[in-house]
Amino acid sequence: MKNVYDVIVIGAGPAGMASALTAREKGSSVLIIEREDRPGGILNQCIHDGFGLVKFNEKLTGPEYADRYVRWIDEAGIEILTSTFLLELIKDEDEFRMKLVSAEKGVFSLRGKAVVVSTGCRERSDRQIFIHGDRPAGIFTAGQAQAFINRMGYMPGRRAVILGSGDIGLIMARRLTLEGAEVEGVYEIQSRPSGLQRNISQCLNDFSIPLHLGRTVSRVIGKGRIEAVEVVSVDERMNPVKGTEAIVPCDCLILSVGLIPEIDILKDLPVVKDGKTGGIVTDDRMESPQVPGLFSCGNAHHVYDLVDYVSESGEIAGSAASEFAREAAI
Ligand SMILES: Cc1cc2nc3c(=O)[nH]c(=O)nc-3n(C[C@H](O)[C@H](O)[C@H](O)COP(=O)(O)OP(=O)(O)OC[C@H]3O[C@@H](n4cnc5c(N)ncnc54)[C@H](O)[C@@H]3O)c2cc1C
Repeated sequence: MKNVYDVIVIGAGPAGMASALTAREKGSSVLIIEREDRPGGILNQCIHDGFGLVKFNEKLTGPEYADRYVRWIDEAGIEILTSTFLLELIKDEDEFRMKLVSAEKGVFSLRGKAVVVSTGCRERSDRQIFIHGDRPAGIFTAGQAQAFINRMGYMPGRRAVILGSGDIGLIMARRLTLEGAEVEGVYEIQSRPSGLQRNISQCLNDFSIPLHLGRTVSRVIGKGRIEAVEVVSVDERMNPVKGTEAIVPCDCLILSVGLIPEIDILKDLPVVKDGKTGGIVTDDRMESPQVPGLFSCGNAHHVYDLVDYVSESGEIAGSAASEFAREAAI
């Protein structure tokens, strides 16, 4: 391993792998940093199909889509440091310096001429939305529930209520049903669903799972473990409508109430946050105007519906990062 690279990519999801491949194809020395023990990002837990329709004109599962990129990365001889977490990222005059930690190396530093931030996004949790009542066991984000079932082999519950009609929630409604759980319904505060129409049809309608629009969870009931939720209709200003309350017994509440770009590692840099997307402001080459040489792509930039466009954004960032590094060397 070297001490300094042309391009260092943070995160080995589909965005990071696409950017690393493109930068390598353009002749840059590239290193990928990944906190998990393997590359692939969120795709590793998405075992349903539907990935790659635009890019490959095929219906792949998440791991199959990721595996293509992992093979190409391997063939291109790109180094990946797995189980390695980026702790700090700062910019000196003409290069980036980073502090990292891994079980194997402890705390260590690296330098790069350009950096691509492809750290994905995180889910909004029960602490970030307003629901009355305690927070007993049995409340999960949809991605957590997905990781429990698909990666660890545990069921989060047997009788579920899903709050929010984002794609992950819809996919989990189907997944829980296929694993023998009862899904009481998906409750969406807005008057229309936020997930893709194909997921409404394939994940809810095909399994007769009710979608309640303009209705939300107003209270969690239960002490040690969730026992029920109170649901209520809302008016056009999202205020609860009195008299529409109902109690729905359940042993788990699955939240699918939004994703936020994960960009905490940029806190020491003078980037500008985009109030609408939650990512950073970039130009059309995915570069921060405030921090030349810093690129962002994939869900760390803004939350994408389809992985195909995530990969595309990685290619744009990787190509521009490689160009930046080449010019910096002159
Ligand atoms: C549940 C779910 C279902 C989906 N279903 C579909 C579908 O059917 N079809 C479709 O096209 N798309 C789907 N998507 C969308 C698509 O999978 C994602 O948009 C895409 O995978 C995001 O890629 P990414 O590379 O931006 O982020 P991620 O895949 O999240 O990768 C980010 C990587 O960065 C790493 N990382 C973060 N911070 C650090 C750090 N400080 N140091 C080191 N590493 C770090 C993470 O460990 C992770 O591996 C789905 C998404 C989800 C969550």
